Amino acid sequence: MEILLGKTKEELREVARQVGLPAFAAGQLAQWLYQHGASHFDEMTNLSKKGREALKAHYEVGRSAPLSSQHSVDGTSKYLFPVRGGGQVETVFIPDGDRGTVCVSCQVGCKMHCAFCMTGRQGFHGHLTAGDILNQLYSLPERDRITNVVFMGQGEPMDNLDNVLRATQLLMADYGWAWSPKRITVSTVGLQKGMLRFLDESQCHLAVSLHNPFPDERASMIPAEIAWSLTDFIALLKRYDWTHQRRLSFEYTVMQGFNDSPAHVRELCRLLGGMECRVNLIRCHEIPDSPYHPVPERTMEWIRDELTRHGITTTIRASRGQDILAACGLLSTKETEPVR
Ligand code: SF4
Repeated sequence: MEILLGKTKEELREVARQVGLPAFAAGQLAQWLYQHGASHFDEMTNLSKKGREALKAHYEVGRSAPLSSQHSVDGTSKYLFPVRGGGQVETVFIPDGDRGTVCVSCQVGCKMHCAFCMTGRQGFHGHLTAGDILNQLYSLPERDRITNVVFMGQGEPMDNLDNVLRATQLLMADYGWAWSPKRITVSTVGLQKGMLRFLDESQCHLAVSLHNPFPDERASMIPAEIAWSLTDFIALLKRYDWTHQRRLSFEYTVMQGFNDSPAHVRELCRLLGGMECRVNLIRCHEIPDSPYHPVPERTMEWIRDELTRHGITTTIRASRGQDILAACGLLSTKETEPVR
């Protein structure tokens, strides 16, 4: 059966036509799906009973509750959602005062094979539809507390850009949550085709997984570097205007002996100097059989202070949900014990 979650209002017009509902019912359907978060057609009480029965015969709303959940001592929650095409993905809700950020997944597994990431070890098993992506928000128990969405869960968003853009457009639609693009951040390791299109078609924030300023060292951890080097994509990013609505950030997981030396910091300053951007320093989380290890807190602070001294806005990102394997690089739908 066809799924309605993920369809635009224009596409819902065709659905309405096919089941014999008047054209204006498309607006009502869109409101039920995207504003009221309806799970069943029976909730759509301003549609005729006959129309609802016809919808049930041919369509599904497309909502699926999480299969399981884990809750961290720091308030972070992690959910396992089923994916319609097969497989499961993890979604993380991170409360912080009035802010509620959801980290969504966009693929089952991932093709990028980044060496520091548990998802990268799973291999690729499929793309999520826009409906699968939105279900992680609409079926989240904390749905009413969501203020921001980051595409930093499982999968590479630029490798599934059609569905990622569609999901963001539905969040921003006046018949959806009417969000500003400022509330949405899309991350990437740097895929040329997807990033070029994203830069031209989206006003959402962009977060680039940098992690090392030297191309050969970065390539040893992020294979995508070989196809499109950071020197080329940073040159491209410098041609765009980041001073207004859209924000550019670089994610930098600090790993002992790999990217924490004065030479790395100098090269970061050279690469990013003069750019309107921010650097988020992330604590490294150990995963089994990984050569990457965390640095002491004083090293994180030293890197932050050096970058800041050179005019690069830099923050140390709080690590959330480590005890439930919900922190950066730890998402995996395979059962795995954290390394202590
Ligand atoms: S870090 Fe992101 S792009 Fe790299 S393997 Fe993990 S999920 Fe994929």
